[in-house]
Amino acid sequence: MNGTEVARTIREDVRPGVAAFAAAHGRSPGLHIVLVGDDPASHIYVRNKERAGTEAGLIVRVHRLPAEATVDQVLAQVQALNADPACDGILVQAPLPAGIGKHGTERVFDAIDPRKDVDGLHPHNVGLLVQGRAALKPCTPSGVIELLDRLGHPIAGKHAVVIGRSEIVGKPMALLLLQRDATVTICHSKTPDLKDTCRRADILVAAIGRPGFVTTDFVKPGAVVIDVGINRVDSRDAVVGFFGADHPRVADFDKKGSAVVGDVHPAVAQVASAMTPVPGGVGPLTIAMLLKNTLTAATARG
Ligand code: NDP
Repeated sequence: MNGTEVARTIREDVRPGVAAFAAAHGRSPGLHIVLVGDDPASHIYVRNKERAGTEAGLIVRVHRLPAEATVDQVLAQVQALNADPACDGILVQAPLPAGIGKHGTERVFDAIDPRKDVDGLHPHNVGLLVQGRAALKPCTPSGVIELLDRLGHPIAGKHAVVIGRSEIVGKPMALLLLQRDATVTICHSKTPDLKDTCRRADILVAAIGRPGFVTTDFVKPGAVVIDVGINRVDSRDAVVGFFGADHPRVADFDKKGSAVVGDVHPAVAQVASAMTPVPGGVGPLTIAMLLKNTLTAATARG
């Protein structure tokens, strides 16, 4: 399943809406990203979001704060954006530096105006999501639903198994699949019969954060497998173990010194009827849905 291609079509669908908004309001929708600290992966994600947003016609602004920023400083930034009429969408790039702590992170995310919460993680929007009436849904799981829809993989009546129960991926993924009439099982690190449960899935979603964790013996032949994981691997042996010694990904590793792999072992492609690659699967969809949410938020605010 080519996530890059599907993401391109979503971005194309967003573009006319952005133009119509700009024509009606005399300004383009504004996406504001708060980036705290210097986590290299976060910087890459933010750069990609900035580029995609600008290409789609949005005004994208990145507000950078140092790693030693206090919770109050991050909160002040969020509150300034809440009050800014030209700001339609606020995204605080996770994870925040360790010094902010779990409680501080919750305070920051809770401070975002729910109408500007383009990540769909504010408790107000999560409540609406549970009730099946959210306008702003978390980008990664809603991107997965778009992918299944646009590639014609039915959801209703299927048994969907989601491995992972994070607030950002696993839980909202399960809710969105349930709303589309799948029968949903959520698995996590304390699930005792994980492989057996996964083998019953028609749709298997892996959101774990462990390279190649899902192997062929987790997968029912013909299942649709969605790999949400993004894991950086520094071991050449591991990359050879994943792809085989002659694979172009090994040559790529030799150039870069690291590789990005998913939670699903590439051999699963031989068992599944369809599977998302990493990279080029769910990642680009997440960004496309962020742009879509920004347009939705801007349009709703008027
Ligand atoms: P978290 O670490 O928040 O959650 C991981 C989940 O996996 C937890 O629920 C955990 O269970 C479960 N888990 C961990 N080990 C096991 C195990 N051995 N068996 C079963 N379940 C296990 O991660 P996220 O949800 O934030 O992210 C998951 C992955 O998705 C990461 O690789 C991340 O980089 C990637 N990601 C990709 C995005 C994209 O755009 N493609 C966006 C967001 C994330 P428990 O709750 O019991 O600890």
